[in-house]
Amino acid sequence: MSYNRVAAVTGANKGIGFAIVRNLALQYPKSPYHDGPFLIYLTARDQNRGEEALQSLYSDSELKRAKVLVQDGGDATIRYHQLDISDTGSITAFADYLKKEHPDGIDFVINNAGIAMQGFDDKVVEETLHCNYHGTLTATQAFLPLLKSNGRLVNVSSMSGKLNKYTPALRDRFLSAAATSPAAVTSLMEAFKTAVAAGNEKEQGWPSAAYAVSKAGVTAMTKAVALQEKERGRGVLVNACCPGYVKTDMTRGGGSKTVDEGATTPVMLALEDVGGVTGQFWQNERVIEW
Ligand code: NDP
Repeated sequence: MSYNRVAAVTGANKGIGFAIVRNLALQYPKSPYHDGPFLIYLTARDQNRGEEALQSLYSDSELKRAKVLVQDGGDATIRYHQLDISDTGSITAFADYLKKEHPDGIDFVINNAGIAMQGFDDKVVEETLHCNYHGTLTATQAFLPLLKSNGRLVNVSSMSGKLNKYTPALRDRFLSAAATSPAAVTSLMEAFKTAVAAGNEKEQGWPSAAYAVSKAGVTAMTKAVALQEKERGRGVLVNACCPGYVKTDMTRGGGSKTVDEGATTPVMLALEDVGGVTGQFWQNERVIEW
């Protein structure tokens, strides 16, 4: 079987990532990209959790009613693949698999996987940045070259990574790094880690919040990657977004949006006509100030 369109979603066994996969399947028939068989990779770091999620999609009553899956007469197929974004080997293995399986390229990547740990110390900072920032950057750099012309890459960041919680000096450093290169953003993340290790991050203007800084890094890095990608002239759009405050395990019962509502902006940034906008930060289906 060959597929005209291929998508990959990270951290898709539950929460917003799971809803992104489901809504990609539901929205595809109405999308401007709709032109034949669509394969969506539901990726997860744990095989059992990934396969269970896959099974639940194949018995999902709304997907059945909408007849979007191949078995119901539609175009969409969903497949599980292992992917742990904190493990470079796992990212490389999936990228190699995609290259082999889809030599003409893939169409959409949604980097959704992320963690939010309790507390604040060196270990929390290290683990959070390792997954949310470095993992998303490594995945972005591994999957971007696999995208076809006019493909889309979406990084799920957060409003907690907005720059309004930084001093003017740090805000300028973020803006400058985002306009320079992903490496410049990585240096900024390292500067945060060093400040935390020295116990003086507050004096230097950083919030004592690993998750918020990691997501500021994701938005900055996405902007830097979008600039590089624009220079390649392939028409690939690279955007960051916040899903809103969504009821998931991450928010432990908090959140005002359902997972389907949280998936709306990331799915729109993959499948809909967004007027060629790239390198922006989106929320509630529109560009917002970072
Ligand atoms: P959940 O905790 O419900 O889901 C997170 C998903 O990411 C899970 O599938 C989890 O897998 C996966 N994941 C975690 N670490 C890794 C890893 N190293 N490799 C691969 N997958 C991993 O969170 P949400 O659905 O709420 O969050 C999804 C994204 O949205 C995150 O990036 C989050 O930061 C962002 N976000 C969420 C908000 C909210 O209000 N919920 C607000 C703003 C942003 P596993 O089950 O194996 O742990």
